[in-house]
Amino acid sequence: MPGLLVTARFCRTVVAMRDAPPDALPEVAFVGRSNAGKSTAINLLCNRRRLAFFSRTPGRTQALNFFEVGPEDAPSAYLVDTPGYGFAQTPLDVKRQWQGLIGPYLQKRRHLAGVVMMVDIRRGVGDLDRQLLAFAPAHVPVLALLTKADKFTYSERLVARREVAAALAPLRPDGSAESLLFSAPARMGIEEATEWVEARLTREYLDEPAGDQPAAE
Ligand code: GDP
Repeated sequence: MPGLLVTARFCRTVVAMRDAPPDALPEVAFVGRSNAGKSTAINLLCNRRRLAFFSRTPGRTQALNFFEVGPEDAPSAYLVDTPGYGFAQTPLDVKRQWQGLIGPYLQKRRHLAGVVMMVDIRRGVGDLDRQLLAFAPAHVPVLALLTKADKFTYSERLVARREVAAALAPLRPDGSAESLLFSAPARMGIEEATEWVEARLTREYLDEPAGDQPAAE
């Protein structure tokens, strides 16, 4: 639904899965290495300057931040900002932290409808990125935003995009991993990324088990 993301507002900070909102609405998670441009991307997609600011507050860095979208009195979906990883941490520290919160989150939320991964175009997809994505069930589609694309020339971008596509393909053999060049200052990829997220949050749940359908009147 066009215009859905601009309704985003902060909902709650979650440090343990038992505090998460009910697993009843579609949600899209935003993941990525620290400094990859995740806050910038969330704010751009939601057309807000400081929405994804909560996640940067000290003490909230190992938390999930849920944002609601849709009507004020009846939110229809969630955006979920996850902790950036990889800054001043050994890979072992990162994995230990993931097992506490983000791992179970990606594994268990039944309505996880997509994962948006921020990938700094100059770094490409790394081991940590791959390992994080491996937590999410294979049917959950992935969109890699190649952030800071303004730092690369046109031909460098093409090469980077091919490399990212090749790195993600084995994780989503069904072809549901996509990539997009993204840049805040050049305003590149914003509309396409917004459409991707909005489509995931509003698609028909044709694949739901019959028991989950609302009873016919
Ligand atoms: P986070 O740690 O993943 O939330 O990253 P931020 O959104 O805070 O961005 C990290 C740094 O990269 C900041 O200095 C941003 O201004 C910068 N940045 C983010 N996106 C872009 C972009 O598209 N192009 C450029 N050149 N810099 C960016």
